[in-house]
Amino acid sequence: EPQNYDVVVVGSGGAGLAAAIQACDEGAKVLIVEKMSTIGGNTIKASVGMNAAETRFQKLKGIEDSKELFYQETLKGGQFKNNTVLLKEFIERAPQAVEWLATHNIELSDITITGGMSIDRTHRPADRSAVGGFLISGLVKNLNKRNIDVMLDTSVTEIRYTNGAVQGVELLNDENEVLTVNARSVIVATGGFSANRDMVVKYRPELDGFVTTNHKGATGGGIAILEKIGAGTVDMGEIQIHPTVEQTTSYLISEAIRGGGAILVSQAGHRFFNEMETRDKVSAKIIGLPEKFAYVVFDEQVRLNNKAADEYIARGFVISGATPRELAAKLEMGSDAFLATLETYNVAVDKQDDAEFGRKTAMRHPINQGPFYAIRIAPGVHHTMGGVTINTDTCVLDAQKQVLSGAFAAGEVVGGIHGGNRIGGNAVADIIIFGILAGQNAAKYAMQ
Ligand code: ADP
Repeated sequence: EPQNYDVVVVGSGGAGLAAAIQACDEGAKVLIVEKMSTIGGNTIKASVGMNAAETRFQKLKGIEDSKELFYQETLKGGQFKNNTVLLKEFIERAPQAVEWLATHNIELSDITITGGMSIDRTHRPADRSAVGGFLISGLVKNLNKRNIDVMLDTSVTEIRYTNGAVQGVELLNDENEVLTVNARSVIVATGGFSANRDMVVKYRPELDGFVTTNHKGATGGGIAILEKIGAGTVDMGEIQIHPTVEQTTSYLISEAIRGGGAILVSQAGHRFFNEMETRDKVSAKIIGLPEKFAYVVFDEQVRLNNKAADEYIARGFVISGATPRELAAKLEMGSDAFLATLETYNVAVDKQDDAEFGRKTAMRHPINQGPFYAIRIAPGVHHTMGGVTINTDTCVLDAQKQVLSGAFAAGEVVGGIHGGNRIGGNAVADIIIFGILAGQNAAKYAMQ
């Protein structure tokens, strides 16, 4: 017989967990349904951090930032295709979302930068570790404290929508049992579709053959479920390839490494672009190289500032040399060219003027302290900017922009916020900001 809840949350990534916690704190009875056997979704793989402007943590570090600048830079990075109404909501709510995390014992107090931004506004854990694992483990502690019900290995196959409102969901578990749950609200937080090759290629044929950084649950099922009850979609062809992916394992090399001072070098031993440009542009440059790959190059100072670097060393991705010449030899790269590249870059750092490529950010220190490191990378499918349409209350909209009563969505399943290119650090912001909001609104709707 059917179980009764106020709110069913579909997906246990960052958006789903934030939504579930908030809905519970609003007094709702909440169920989380996750199709995989573990909690965390693709969020657990998030690397660099969470963008927000005008936060307490920026002020503590003396960083002057403005919401207006964050808005303008995100819009430019998104090729001016962003849904500006949603983007404004996102920018406005970002600092309070950072605070919401802090009050839930998830403090992101260190700050770095990503491509396309002019100011350090990417919040990350104090120990400079990757944000994803930290975030998920913190959110799970909050779940456990509240005894929120979670069903793993169970997919939502259908939203029951009759008489103009959500009535509940149909579930399928790993024993092939079909279950029915009654609930007035459903929050779809199922993530993107980067791991669904057919769907990616349908919208972007030229991405056939690219690896993906995503976990295998990122198949876009939530979009299909919502479309079935009439949801509209937007920007489905806007698919981001991330420039720095280790190709034998599809492992993402975080933008935090470049944000900490690394450069990109071609097989010929040259820099070829402003490394701190947006992901779409950096990816296009790498694909344009004759060999279609490049190296992320850094030194000991960068390693010491990024915990992820040690992870890459442990995973065997990193080639190192005591001197630049030794590193060049191991990379079978002309060492004269490589040495000249480092020398020119180091002068640019000294002068804080990159005459060659116009890099303006994260020229933190010269690359001159051994050991020297390189990771071979090429682009991979990373984020799907398109998805279902919502309003600023996270209510799912149909093709005529009418609210589908009781249906809410948050996170990567939603389209429009990031336009044609998502800025690094804006996905974690997105899932937390709109996850909280979805939890709040879905709970209120269910209990009214
Ligand atoms: P976000 O970053 O937007 O929170 P994530 O990718 O981190 O998204 O998490 C989405 C989660 O939703 C994943 O764990 C995925 O396995 C889960 N999921 C996707 N489709 C379904 C479905 N139909 N039923 C239950 N869980 C789903």
